[in-house]
Parts: sequence; structure tokens; C-alpha cells
Amino acid sequence: MRLVKLIANLGYGSRKEIQTAIKHGWVTDRDGNTLKADAKTAHEDILFDDEPLDPAVGMVVLMNKPLGYTCSTKDQGKLVYDLLPDRFRVRKPALSTIGRLDKETSGALLFTDDGDLLHRVISPKADVPKIYEAELDRPLNGSEATLFASGEMMLENEHKPLKPAELEVLDDTHVRLTLHEGRYHQVRRMFAAAGNHVTALTRTHIGRLGLDGVSEGEWMLLDEDQLAKIF
Ligand code: URA
Repeated sequence: MRLVKLIANLGYGSRKEIQTAIKHGWVTDRDGNTLKADAKTAHEDILFDDEPLDPAVGMVVLMNKPLGYTCSTKDQGKLVYDLLPDRFRVRKPALSTIGRLDKETSGALLFTDDGDLLHRVISPKADVPKIYEAELDRPLNGSEATLFASGEMMLENEHKPLKPAELEVLDDTHVRLTLHEGRYHQVRRMFAAAGNHVTALTRTHIGRLGLDGVSEGEWMLLDEDQLAKIF
């Protein structure tokens, strides 16, 4: 029964459906031997429908989020969870996003089922930089880099100044901005406070982790080396 519970918890189906899958021989080891419900095979050696099982816990997914998707489990309209396999939505422990991107922001978005990891990524102490590229409505006026780096910039309705952020000018309406915190609509509000308007925004990196090999709307499971690039 251990195998049935394990696979069902990962969201591959109800316990009954997994029992049926085992009977049909759809659960095997890496050598193609069919497994019975009482098999003691190690998790990483179990295949379901010829594919290795998802990790049990400590799973981290990197998505290249397209525009128009919301980082919510319940909103109406298109949800980032719709881009993941159904089983990720029902697995225990559940996957949640690590921080959020606005509906109209694209780019690097992480998901995990590991609460400690989630807190490490968003914790101010860990200081994981997030790198954005933004298109602006109007040319820069030249004062933005100093303002953003000052550590004294205040956003409307907030009581604490923003941490220093680094602005790199790509051309006069196109910038790269590195943030060390994640406040609500932060990039858009920073440029609004500087008298400009963000017309397009994408997150390119979380720490040193970029989106190489992940096309828009696609996702991948992170391995240890990729995970290490976050911190
Ligand atoms: N800043 C924003 O304004 N929006 C995001 O989605 C992320 C950072």
C-alpha cells in the first residue's frame, strides 16, 4: 500500500486509480520491471507511465510566466497553475508560488511545496536579488538611478523607504532594474514615482537563476545546481 499512497499523494490519481495503474503494470522500476503495491523500490527509481515520479517534497519549479496569467489559485480568468500538470494542483504537500508577478508581468516565477525554501527566497535576510527589464513610456530623465539607489525613496502609502536598487540603462526607454525586496507592484510604482510609466515588464532572473531553456508558458523542475543559483 505504501506505493499506492505515495503516488496518490503526488496527485497522479485517487488511491483506487493508482491501484488500477499498478494492476495494469503502468508502475515500473527503471529496468522496466512492473511493481506491486508492496514494492520497496526507492522513490527516484519508480516510473509512472514510463516517466520518473515527481519528487516527494522539496520540489521547485521554474516557470516562464506569460502575460495575462494571475498568480492565484482562485481568481477568474487564466491562472499560472493552469500551465502546470493537473497533478501539481492536487499533490500533497501543495505547490505555491514563491512571491508573485502581476498579471501583466512576464518572466521567472518559482513554485515550491517547501515552506522553508519559500521563506528563504522571500526573506529580506537572504537578500535574493530579482532582476527585471522594463520598457518605459517616456525617455529617462537621468535622475532615476540616483533616486533608486538612495535607500531613501518612499512609495505612496508606505512608511519605510525602499532598499537601494540598481538601475542599468539599456537605452533611453529600456532598463534593467535589480531589486532586493518585493513590494506590491514595486517596479511600476517606482517609475510612477519618478514621473514615468512602465509599458512592459519582465523578470529575467531570481538570484543568478535565469530562464535559459524555458520558453514562454513552459516550466521545468529545478535540480540542485539550478537551485543553488538562487542563493
Ligand atoms: N514589480 C511590479 O511592478 N510588478 C511585478 O510583477 C513585479 C515587480
